Amino acid sequence: MKQHRSVAIDGPSGAGKSTLAKRLAEALGYLYVDTGAIYRTVGLQAFRTGADPSDPAAVIPLLQDIQIRLAYGEDGLQHMYLNGEDVTAEIRRHEISAYASGVSAIPEVRAFLLEQQRGLAEEHDVVMDGRDIGTVVLPDADVKIFLTAAPEARARRRWLELKERGQETAFETVLHDVLERDERDTSRAAAPLRQAEDAVLADTTEKDLEQSLELLMHIVKEHLQA
Ligand code: C5P
Repeated sequence: MKQHRSVAIDGPSGAGKSTLAKRLAEALGYLYVDTGAIYRTVGLQAFRTGADPSDPAAVIPLLQDIQIRLAYGEDGLQHMYLNGEDVTAEIRRHEISAYASGVSAIPEVRAFLLEQQRGLAEEHDVVMDGRDIGTVVLPDADVKIFLTAAPEARARRRWLELKERGQETAFETVLHDVLERDERDTSRAAAPLRQAEDAVLADTTEKDLEQSLELLMHIVKEHLQA
């Protein structure tokens, strides 16, 4: 029997998933699980070893030597450990996004990470965000939300986020990356990004953070009560 509650939030990059999922988790008192960070950690290993992230023959052997751990610091944040090293900041680097997207298209990588994600939801009430949470990882989630926004709005948010971290990048580059990543994430054969049939669509193009959070809270309350 299912013991814990789960909220699955999927959608393309830059829709505000991580910020909103984190805030939602805080409001509900649930654990926030950012699954993109887990794929980013595998992507970082490919980057560091010089493996071509789109080449399964280069990436699959890496899985034998990596230990990925997720832990929550005193700051309440999700920290990622790669073979014992805290790589939480490093996985956010711009160039790691494409590596994460590349390795995540490999079925063996997805299978390798699946149990870890499911295990977290078995042990805690969770708000989990990613690309395939409602469709593959937690098909029985209590609430499923597909969070999206127009590509330009998503690119603008990503661009601002990078700028705040001191990574000045041309807006066109970020938009190009967003579109490329959308294409890769939706067209891949293994767990492509798509809205689960029973997911509620939430479009944040015209909404700021507080308005988006309000919308999500509304959806969650409606479904958790049902
Ligand atoms: O969410 P974030 O942008 O950090 O994720 C990085 C990449 O990891 C995504 O572009 C996507 O390709 C992949 N990913 C995935 N499945 C998830 C979460 C992330 O394939 N559940």
